[in-house]
Amino acid sequence: MSDICKEYLMNTYKRIPVVMVRGEGIRLWDDKGNEYMDFVSGLGVNSLGHSHPKVTKAIWRQAATLIHVSNLYYIEQQCKLAKELCDNSFADKVFFCNSGAEAVEGAIKLARKHAKVKGHKNKYEIITAYNSFHGRTYGAITATAQSKYQESFKPLVPGFKYVPFNDIDAISSAISEETCAVMLEPVQGEGGVYPADEEYLKQVRKLCDEREILLIFDEVQCGLGRTGRLFAHQRYGVTPDICTVAKALGNGFPIGAVLATDDAAVFEPGDHASTFGGNPLACEVALAVLEVMLESAVENAYKMGEYFKDALIGLKRKYSVIKEVRGMGLMLGVEFSRDLGELVVDLRKNGLLVNCINNRILRFLPPLIVTKEDIDRAIAMLDESIEKLFNDGSKRR
Ligand SMILES: *Cc1c(COP(=O)(O)O)cnc(C)c1O
Repeated sequence: MSDICKEYLMNTYKRIPVVMVRGEGIRLWDDKGNEYMDFVSGLGVNSLGHSHPKVTKAIWRQAATLIHVSNLYYIEQQCKLAKELCDNSFADKVFFCNSGAEAVEGAIKLARKHAKVKGHKNKYEIITAYNSFHGRTYGAITATAQSKYQESFKPLVPGFKYVPFNDIDAISSAISEETCAVMLEPVQGEGGVYPADEEYLKQVRKLCDEREILLIFDEVQCGLGRTGRLFAHQRYGVTPDICTVAKALGNGFPIGAVLATDDAAVFEPGDHASTFGGNPLACEVALAVLEVMLESAVENAYKMGEYFKDALIGLKRKYSVIKEVRGMGLMLGVEFSRDLGELVVDLRKNGLLVNCINNRILRFLPPLIVTKEDIDRAIAMLDESIEKLFNDGSKRR
């Protein structure tokens, strides 16, 4: 299997030598019959767990009825989904696409057009934060202020400026006459699970209002229940003008969206489009996902998030190799003072899948339907592996 893959696939991923063949709830099985607890959720995607019955049913039903029609027609499921998203957020209008990067591109275009519509011909600059991640298309890698994603692909898109995250003075002095928007992740995901400070986001909102700049939140990862509220910014009590979502919206079926206020939603026919974006199948699936999220999964994510974080803090008290536990809801990061390659492999061999960032940060994104028993098991596995691999007097006594 890995031979064919290596021969025919572009070399874009350093892949783990495992082939998953089935999933159910928080569990995955590989082709050798090994069982895993999935605490990564396909990188924040399978938030309702694998093969959720309501999602599967929505796919079956809609696939047998109508998969795709073009956006030249009204699409009932798309309108319903837009209403559902607006009824449960700050937004008045929605645009649908197929991925996170596309949602970010849509947000960038919307912010630039908004400035033009308001009569500011030379307002086009967008400020983003160091260590951010916004996707892999050109606008999105330019917005992503990490050189490792940019270096080989220059020249980038003009009109972006970067500031340190959680530094209000930096953002205040970076804003110029040319600035049309600030874009931030309320909780930075790929960068290593760094939540924004509440006071910072409140101050950024105030600055944006004073300087007539749009505030964009990229909630592709931290949105849709991940932090224990439907949107991460709801936990902060700070409302953006534009918000991007994707990852968890289809529980694995590709769909993304740009949410905006009436004031910000300035697109007109011809400005922006997507062939697949918002087709009946994708939207029917997302409607099922939102229903389950609003019924129970988001609330469970809040409760289990508190429980999981406390348990991780318990491990930190026990092991001095753990430097910090951070995050919100079920988006949690544990930073170690040692390289984690061996730990991640050991956990996987014992049946726990976790993600690792920069070799030092464990990122946990379990499905929102995770239970206390699942978390207890994961903590016991972590405890055992840390004890085994780092047991050289690094225990706090
Ligand atoms: C994953 C991610 C993206 C990119 O999403 P894709 O679907 O991979 O294009 C954008 N922004 C954030 C915050 C993400 O975590």
